[in-house]
Amino acid sequence: MHEVSLAQNVLSIVEEAALRDKFTQVSEISISIGKLAGVEIDSFIFALENLGKGTILNNTRILITQPDASANCQTCAHEFTINERWQSCPNCQSNDIKITDGLQLKIIDLIVRD
Ligand SMILES: [Zn+2]
Repeated sequence: MHEVSLAQNVLSIVEEAALRDKFTQVSEISISIGKLAGVEIDSFIFALENLGKGTILNNTRILITQPDASANCQTCAHEFTINERWQSCPNCQSNDIKITDGLQLKIIDLIVRD
C-alpha cells in the first residue's frame, strides 16, 4: 500500500534527524500533504501510528494540513487553484497546464523531547 511506504519514509527521515540532532522522542509532527498527492489521509495516519509504535514516533500527535494545489496555464499563463489533476484552464480552457504545487508530502515541523 502506497500510504504505508510513505509512512515508512517519514519515519526514516525522522529517525535520521533524531540521530543528527540527538532527540529521542517526538511529541508532535506536522505534515503537509498536497491535495493532489493522491494520499488517503486516514490510511496514512493509521500507517504512521502503527509503524511508530515502539519507535521515536511512539504516541506522537500527527497533524496533517492539506494545502490547495495550484497550476499555471502554459497557454495563457493564468494561475489558478486546481482540484483535480486533469482540470483544464478556467480562463482559456486549455489542457496544457502545469501543476506547480499540491503534489508533495512534506514534513513541516517536529516538536521533540530529549
Ligand atoms: Zn489558460
